[in-house]
Amino acid sequence: MLAENQSQSDKLMQRAKALIPGGVNSPVRAFRSVGGTPFFTRSAQGARLTTADGDSLIDFVCTWGPALHGHNHPVIRSAIADALQHGTSFGTPNPYEVEMAEAIARFVPSIQKVRMCNSGTEATMSCIRLARGFTGRSKIVKFAGCYHGHVDSLLVKAGSGALTHGHPDSAGIPPAIAAETLVLPYNDIGALEQCFAAHGETIAGVIVESYPANCGLILPLPGYLQRLRQICSGHGALLIFDEVMTGFRLARGGVQELEHLKPDLTALGKVIGGGLPVGAFGGRADVMDYLAPEGPVYQAGTLSGNPLALSAGLAALQLIESHDPYGRLQKMGQAVAAALREAANEKGIALQVPQTGSMFAFFFSSSPVTNYDRALASDASLFRKVFHFALKRGVYLPPSAYETCFISTAHDQPTIDQACEVLSDAIRSL
Ligand SMILES: *Cc1c(COP(=O)(O)O)cnc(C)c1O
Repeated sequence: MLAENQSQSDKLMQRAKALIPGGVNSPVRAFRSVGGTPFFTRSAQGARLTTADGDSLIDFVCTWGPALHGHNHPVIRSAIADALQHGTSFGTPNPYEVEMAEAIARFVPSIQKVRMCNSGTEATMSCIRLARGFTGRSKIVKFAGCYHGHVDSLLVKAGSGALTHGHPDSAGIPPAIAAETLVLPYNDIGALEQCFAAHGETIAGVIVESYPANCGLILPLPGYLQRLRQICSGHGALLIFDEVMTGFRLARGGVQELEHLKPDLTALGKVIGGGLPVGAFGGRADVMDYLAPEGPVYQAGTLSGNPLALSAGLAALQLIESHDPYGRLQKMGQAVAAALREAANEKGIALQVPQTGSMFAFFFSSSPVTNYDRALASDASLFRKVFHFALKRGVYLPPSAYETCFISTAHDQPTIDQACEVLSDAIRSL
């Protein structure tokens, strides 16, 4: 239960606001789209967060995706502790990098060569530079509602964080840069064909959140991603799958495994860091060899391949290999989605609950949400009520109607049952 008076969080937020813009280091944490003051977290263990005021919350945010194995998993913690014995950063090649590259290639067969970086943003930024360098073309196609990190040319109709602040495009991005980005509706093959008919010869690549999960959760219509693959190949444009969210979360090989597709490049992040800051990108060897020092496309990082971060990430991947968690996660995801749909039916409220594996989202909408415009047309005010009701009862959902909820392997049956009861009550209370 949350205390009536979150005095510690309130005090910390006052101090934070004096020195940190909005009091937060990433905008969506500020609760702007749901209202209220965010709580501070003192510790996180398994499926739960403990707030600065001592309240325990069932966590469906999972540090925005990375915590596939729950918080502070003992195997990951001891891998970090072991690595710590040997030093925190070397600035030379280290053995973890080789192990990580081999693990990634094993998990994601389309990745023949890979480079490590420090965030998902770095991974997508590097993918588009590489696509431009490789093809000698300049235009990039993206899809409305897809978020690829805060890269200048990708912050155009970019989903949740940008969305909930009411201006989808950021200030500070020169129009000339935004003009190199073509934005299409997701799930619309006609729009894709038209775009390539008009601009095909100038398109370096198409970047897509293979399952868009930054404006709620949107799933592809049958055949859509396969057609996208064909069109890119037909025009010599690189297909870039942004699997920062979905990689290692939905399947060992991400959405590309589930959809039987091979993108040319893949951006990875989140789960691959085991809770520490890591990103990676990789793909076709002939494309990756355009990177410096082999080729002309510059990309670098002082802390890239950091031994602590990679030891955590390697432990997270080893846990996947030893436990094969996807069947159990899918069952839990289905159970939560079914409970939400049932409560909405009983109450007579139109609710869509897209779900795949350990990811689900709420859209208060009478028809399935297949693109960004439909996501925006859903009723965010009902989500706000559900959010606050659940938080008061000890269940933490993402603080925005346009985010995806995550389940971890640490969410055991009693935790899921308890959460289903609270979320069902939240819907009945509307
Ligand atoms: C989170 C996310 C990013 C950005 O990753 P950061 O580590 O926050 O820079 C990029 N793409 C997708 C699909 C994401 O979900």
